[in-house]
Formats: sequence, C-alpha cells, structure tokens
Amino acid sequence: MTTSIERITPWLERAGKHIMGPGHYKLASGQHSQYIIDMKGIPPYVEDVIREMIVQTYNARTVDIVVGVPNGGTSFAEFIAPALSMNTQNPDGVRQVRMEKRGRSFFLPIVPKAGLRALVVDDVGTTYGSILEACKVLEEAGVEVAHRFVIINRNPNPRAAEAAGIEFLEHYPIPTYASASCRMCKRGIPLVDPNAA
Ligand SMILES: [Zn+2]
Repeated sequence: MTTSIERITPWLERAGKHIMGPGHYKLASGQHSQYIIDMKGIPPYVEDVIREMIVQTYNARTVDIVVGVPNGGTSFAEFIAPALSMNTQNPDGVRQVRMEKRGRSFFLPIVPKAGLRALVVDDVGTTYGSILEACKVLEEAGVEVAHRFVIINRNPNPRAAEAAGIEFLEHYPIPTYASASCRMCKRGIPLVDPNAA
C-alpha cells in the first residue's frame, strides 16, 4: 500500500461530503453545531490508514475483543479486529463482538465471556455519551474495557477526552451549543437532524 495520508481529517475535508456545513445540525448528543462529520462510506485506502494507525497504537496482546459502538463504530470494528488479530500474540486472536442498538439503548446479541479485554471504538466523539454508554453495557456483562477509542475527537475542549478516559486518533475541534444558547436557533435557521432519517 502506498499513500500520502498522514491525517484523516484533511482527507475528510477535501472529500467534501464527509464534513458537512456550515448549517444547523442536531448531533447525536442533542447539542447543535454548524458542522457534522460523517464517516460513512470512506474508501478502502482511508480505512487502510486508520487500520495501520490503530495497529501501531495498540499492542494487541492487551486486547481480546473489539466492539464497535452502533451504528458509527460497527464498520470500524469489522476491519480493526482482524488487523489486530494478525498482530497479536494472543493464541485466540482478537475478534469482533457485535453490539446492536434498539431504540436508544445498546445490547449484546451474544454476551462475551466475562473477563475479556475490550477495545471499544466509535467513529466520532463529541460528548462521548454513546461510547460511555456502550462501555457500561459491556462492563455490566463482565467485560473489562481496556480502551475507549474514537477515530475523530471533535470536542473543542482539548482536555475533555482525557477527562472521560477516551483515546483518539485525531483531534478536530468543532464548537457545539446547547439549544438554549445556540446562535443558529436564535436566528431561526431550520434545524437538521441527520440521525432522525
Ligand atoms: Zn440550534
């Protein structure tokens, strides 16, 4: 593989359709923002870059399973788990454990063995509400959450991820607003909810 990509977000910017705005968007967290990041449909060569960065970052010996946060993290877990598995010294390999979303809550169709160490992955983190909720579901099932990981951290506070125990590949800060203090709301710009579709 040859590629000149060293960071993901400049590629997302250039591709146009992955960072949308300026507009008035409702995020999964409920907050409002002028921009949304959509990681769906990134091409295989960008996946290759993410895969390589993650394999370099994580010593697979400390990971038994990879769990994607539905829905954005699922496709990442699908290609991260086999990549870590090839690099692990764990004889059982690293497998993907599927998590699903029903309404607003997450569940595990097949509950993994207690004591396994998980890398939990989501595509984009803002307030990290989704990934922390997914981790709670795993911990209640007896899984040890070893790494909470988002590809793109968009929280504008540079210390927020660390405070929440979140690791990330890239920081791409974008302001977000509570609806009560949102200047797009004040100006009467129609709110678009991409998660409602
Ligand atoms: Zn607003």
